[in-house]
Amino acid sequence: MANGKRPTWDEYFLKLAMLASERATCPRMHCGCVLVKNRFVLATGYNGSLPGQPHCEDEGCLVVENHCVRTNHAEINALVQAALHGINIKGSTAYITNMSCTTCAKALIAAGINRVVVFSDFHDTLAIDFYTKSNVEIVRLDVPDRQINYNIDDYSSARKTEKSK
Ligand SMILES: [Zn+2]
Ligand SMILES: [Zn+2]
Repeated sequence: MANGKRPTWDEYFLKLAMLASERATCPRMHCGCVLVKNRFVLATGYNGSLPGQPHCEDEGCLVVENHCVRTNHAEINALVQAALHGINIKGSTAYITNMSCTTCAKALIAAGINRVVVFSDFHDTLAIDFYTKSNVEIVRLDVPDRQINYNIDDYSSARKTEKSK
């Protein structure tokens, strides 16, 4: 591989969560969440407005007690996506770019998530307490590469076709 480092499964899915976070619409924070079971991606989410409602980016944040409340958080949107598609996520792992808020932690626990992989801490929250009491394993990884390298010369079939001419 071009950069000589093949990501582990945890790094891979956490990078997918980072990719999901690129779709977030609240400038105060971009979060992504990917729900995975047996190495299958079951659902993804990012923090964003309700369908059909304005985005923070367009109309500004809707701040209540110092938090923007316009968006559903990434974890909730991943749970909603699973619900809309009738996917059983019990026993899956949540890959999240930021440690959950208390509310999202409780929702993930109630939905049967038993492992959380995250690369950042979020203070002033009871998430870790709730996870711990419900025996949810918390894995903290270093921030994965923020740059996802795709070396076209190495991997592109177009390039190989070019070469074979
Ligand atoms: Zn906002
Ligand atoms: Zn949350």
